[in-house]
Amino acid sequence: VPIGAVVKLCDSGQIQVLDDEGNEHWISPQNATNIKPMHPTSIHGVDDMIRLGDLNEAGILRNLLKRYIEHLIYTYTGSILVAVNPYQVLPIYTADQIRLYTNKKIGEMPPHIFAIADNCYFNMQRNNRDQCCIISGESGAGKTESTKLILQFLAAISGQHSWIEQQVLEANPILEAFGNAKTIRNDNSSRFGKYIDIHFNKRGAIEGAKIEQYLLEKSRVCRQARDERNYHIFYCMLKGMPSDQKKKLGLGKATDYSYLAIGKCTVCDGRDDMKEYSNIQSAMKVLMFSDTENWMISKLLASILHMGNLRYEARTYDNLDACEVVRSVDLTSAATLLEVNCKDLMNCLTSRTLITRGETVSTPLSIEQALDVRDAFVKGIYGRLFVWIVEKINAAIYKPPSHEPKALRRSIGLLDIFGFENFTINSFEQLCINFANENLQQFFVRHVFKLEQEQYNLEHINWQHIEFTDNQDALDMIAIKPMNIISLIDEESKFPKGTDTTMLNKLNSQHKLNTNYIPPKNNHETQFGLQHFAGVVYYETRGFLEKNRDTLHGDIIQLVHSSRNKFIKQIFQADVAMGAETRKRSPTLSSQFKRSLEQLMRTLSVCQPFFVRCIKPNENKKPMLFDRELCVRQLRYSGMMETIRIRRAGYPIRYTFVEFVDRYRVLMPGVKPAYKQEDLRGTCQRIVEVVLGRDDDWQMGKTKIFLKDHHDMLLEIERDKAI
Ligand code: ADP
Ligand code: MG
Repeated sequence: VPIGAVVKLCDSGQIQVLDDEGNEHWISPQNATNIKPMHPTSIHGVDDMIRLGDLNEAGILRNLLKRYIEHLIYTYTGSILVAVNPYQVLPIYTADQIRLYTNKKIGEMPPHIFAIADNCYFNMQRNNRDQCCIISGESGAGKTESTKLILQFLAAISGQHSWIEQQVLEANPILEAFGNAKTIRNDNSSRFGKYIDIHFNKRGAIEGAKIEQYLLEKSRVCRQARDERNYHIFYCMLKGMPSDQKKKLGLGKATDYSYLAIGKCTVCDGRDDMKEYSNIQSAMKVLMFSDTENWMISKLLASILHMGNLRYEARTYDNLDACEVVRSVDLTSAATLLEVNCKDLMNCLTSRTLITRGETVSTPLSIEQALDVRDAFVKGIYGRLFVWIVEKINAAIYKPPSHEPKALRRSIGLLDIFGFENFTINSFEQLCINFANENLQQFFVRHVFKLEQEQYNLEHINWQHIEFTDNQDALDMIAIKPMNIISLIDEESKFPKGTDTTMLNKLNSQHKLNTNYIPPKNNHETQFGLQHFAGVVYYETRGFLEKNRDTLHGDIIQLVHSSRNKFIKQIFQADVAMGAETRKRSPTLSSQFKRSLEQLMRTLSVCQPFFVRCIKPNENKKPMLFDRELCVRQLRYSGMMETIRIRRAGYPIRYTFVEFVDRYRVLMPGVKPAYKQEDLRGTCQRIVEVVLGRDDDWQMGKTKIFLKDHHDMLLEIERDKAI
């Protein structure tokens, strides 16, 4: 990628330049033809990239860099906000700033996440329509922080510091404690996706909210990569819990537990686990978790830690690989906390009951199998606990619309979902995550490119078609068309004889000719590749079906059923209620995920969307470090170039003639309301000519008027003056 530079001196034909990264270069005359003068807008930078003169990657990159150095982390592309993570606390989120951004038009103030929040709120009321804000970006790009800032702004401007408002805000620390962890990319990485729908009453005050969660990464409870941690809650509990309580749970310190120490990292710089614990406790009080419930949660967390410490020894019975749990305090502690018989727990973890021809036989498990069973149990507990916690939060903050007619209630939804992932080894989880991102990208593409240009054509305005990269084909292959990848994986998961290999064979025979599918190079290879909008990802198929089936074997369910611990029984209620046969046929992980994604896309499609594109400036979590390669890659796959182009050429603001006349007739004295008008189109045109001028770049369509973002601001300001 070309780089911006300033000429420092010329010496006998040689030119010395200082580039944007602060490096000096000597350029000889024969290379000087590669130098292009900058457009004036690039020299100082612009706060809306549709005004950028150098509309190329280098220009965009320089603009973001230039602003980043001056701590201007926010930049518009029309009404789409680009946010570059500052990795430092900037003094731009104060109460004063909130006031400054309240009830302003986009463009009236410098770009800011608060401006997006304010516009969501303002649009919701002015158009009486639900809004949503889709926040995207890689892990560590700043999605969750952005979500919190929007929420903070909405709470501040809508409210009177009500109890419900505080409850909505306090849901976050709880979700983060149980669903976030330190990873190498982000010290507070969300390991689940969420959609927070905030409900407002007719006066515009927050009256409740509802949280939807997606696909918590359960494997983290048992295993973490080097330099990563388990979920925050474990470390917080061990640091912050009073010692008498810890004693009751038989707990020590983080390094004592193999589930917490696998990543060889039990502390996280910049996080105070002890202080965090008391924050979590008070947040749980605000959200109506009773002391009993809280204690029950701690008991389950402790039992997980004890189970992680169980020692196994290999044995052989009747020439079968078997194993035994070495009698230990951990086994008795776990059994005590789970309130099950110690012997039963032991049996469950070392053998499995099979029913063949009506007879039940117990077969021993090898050490490996036994460890898998234990880990599956632990993941089962934690996953269900997380779901229960989200339900508990919703029980406190969600108020079903009862007495007020539905039309009077409006909402703003904030989507903070895992970004695109591509690791050295990618598995089933990455496939789900990337599938979600394909969906969101398609939503963006549809909204920004397809529907937009369709409208221009339908309305017969002057328009030069703009090319864009459409990911619909990839999405079709993954989840839409018959025999799509997700459905093949699912089918194989339900097939008793299905294995990861038979699944891969089916994928190959079905999709090998698809350009978005990359089959394994030979018969031994267990990976297949997919061409995603953000790049090629290779998926390792070993373990796919197991992960997708996500079932616990009957002995474990039986054990839970036998427990005297009401809480664990409650979180496993649905599993216990199902018979063994139904359990086998219960929906797979991918089908559940697909269904919740479809629901999400339906919700989003009836909202007016705002987009926030978070950019991660470097891999080191460092302030003031702008890695151009890393940034340009993110800009590229998010389609930023094309977005700027269409936003610059396009007309994002449109009104039907009726809407326009009724909203802006105050700007021209004597204009009657729309219903009294004979020639609406003509009236509309007269108003717009008076306010914006005849030659400005607006257009009249067949039924609508088409305007630029800055026109909207101008019209609104004039209207505010006039009324
Ligand atoms: P994501 O949710 O996209 O994975 P986060 O929102 O958790 O990323 O951000 C990662 C880290 O980056 C945060 O913990 C914080 O330290 C820093 N960060 C992100 N956005 C901001 C911001 N606006 N101001 C200051 N620091 C930020
Ligand atoms: Mg996050």
